[in-house]
Amino acid sequence: EGHIQRKRGKILLATVKGDVHDIGKNIVGVVLGCNHFDIVDLGVMVPARRIVETALKEKVNLVGLSGLITPSLEEMVNVAKELNRHQVKVPLLIGGATTSKTHTAVKIEPTYNGPVIYVKDASQSAGIVNQLLHPDTHPNYLSQLSSEYQDIRQRHERTTTKKALLPLTTARERKTPINWEQYTPSVPIHKGLTVYEEYPLQELIPYIDWTPFFLTWELKGKYPEILKDPRMGQQAQRLYEEAQEMLALITNERRLTARAVVGLFPANARGDDIEIYTDEDRNGVRMTIHFLRQQSDKGMSRPDRCLADYVVPLEKDKLDWIGAFAVTTGIGLKQWIAEYEKNQDDFQAILAKSLADRLVEALAEHLHERVRRELWSYAPEENLEPLDLLKEKYRGIRPAPGYPACPDHTEKQLLFDLIDATKYTSIQLTDHFAMTPPASICGWYFAHPEARYFGVGKIGKDQVIDYAHRKGMAVNTVEKWLASNLAYDPRL
Ligand code: SAH
Repeated sequence: EGHIQRKRGKILLATVKGDVHDIGKNIVGVVLGCNHFDIVDLGVMVPARRIVETALKEKVNLVGLSGLITPSLEEMVNVAKELNRHQVKVPLLIGGATTSKTHTAVKIEPTYNGPVIYVKDASQSAGIVNQLLHPDTHPNYLSQLSSEYQDIRQRHERTTTKKALLPLTTARERKTPINWEQYTPSVPIHKGLTVYEEYPLQELIPYIDWTPFFLTWELKGKYPEILKDPRMGQQAQRLYEEAQEMLALITNERRLTARAVVGLFPANARGDDIEIYTDEDRNGVRMTIHFLRQQSDKGMSRPDRCLADYVVPLEKDKLDWIGAFAVTTGIGLKQWIAEYEKNQDDFQAILAKSLADRLVEALAEHLHERVRRELWSYAPEENLEPLDLLKEKYRGIRPAPGYPACPDHTEKQLLFDLIDATKYTSIQLTDHFAMTPPASICGWYFAHPEARYFGVGKIGKDQVIDYAHRKGMAVNTVEKWLASNLAYDPRL
């Protein structure tokens, strides 16, 4: 007896290949470690083969996969298949921001020979693992899960087969109605690239959105009210104070470096693409970027949107502009974290990562404001309080490739080429188009007052073919990238 506690089982954790995000996985590791499970953490960007090899060699009782970017969904299916091939049948836990119960039930469970369980957040993980690895509850729990997932699959089947899609040509006829005759595009003051080699972190602190910070730590509630919440207040307050201390360290000792690059370019829409020109006389096309259009039948009165709708069409013969940006606060993060990890200080390591994430979001918000007021200067008079900024109550948007309005992650490559993002910020793209270091963001700037976020949603094969053609890519390659985003239902 005494203080020696027998371990209750061995658990392999990994963020899948192509993905560099691991805050959720790390919290799960800490929670399960505290519950006396042995954790084998393979880190980030872990290839399927290594997961299989380790599962076999270490005879783990359970495998947990994590991912934040949408291509990770497809990679998880791949890992499940590889585990199958090697007769690994231990329970598979699926977690991370883009995963969902539906995706787990529809795409992963049917491909795997063992139990597959979606874990919504770290706080659930201990309960789930306990049930899974406990011989008494195990059989009951599994049959319950399997019927629940079956229900989800049937419901999914019904909803996806019911919704009618419009042919792409019809969807295009229903594009966002904008009166271009009345519109005068603003000409940017700072055309071309603006580079910030080292952005002062201090200036970003007022732009931090704390609500998602608490969410990362599984404290669900609005800041600042959460600090006074009867249930979570004390914990939130303590976490907030720790965060303030670490922020002071980050800024005073310059533990992190923030870098940014912005580019503003002459452009026009050409169908659902946007042409970016070499110069204002449109002597040459420097790059064409591609967007997808909604195809759902919403009736004549509601448009089927595409981001290209927010830029003046070429045939109007009026030059417009588009922007692109890449920002990071992740430089120095890895080395710094390594110190905490060496001392097995998981809490500080996760805190550092979650603050780097907050700072880069703050940088994106702050830079967007500078673009509106100074660089592009289409809203020089704007003067919003930080809280209204975070509610995005301003003119213009900054959609991020891989997000619902532009779900194709591969377009990040074009964005990076356009503004030389790797050269100026040292952010790199992984083979699955995640950005590394973590705590990096990129996106497009649209200035039109009508511009808004939306989800492309399901699209038809007609658009996939058209899109592949425009991109100069093979249809099945495009299909592969879009399928991982669940935007594209191949049956439609
Ligand atoms: N303040 C938050 C960040 C807001 S996330 C934080 O600190 O965590 C909002 C950003 O996500 C937007 O600016 C945009 O870049 C991206 N985004 C949100 N919805 C989107 C959509 N439908 N399509 C594309 N990008 C989207």
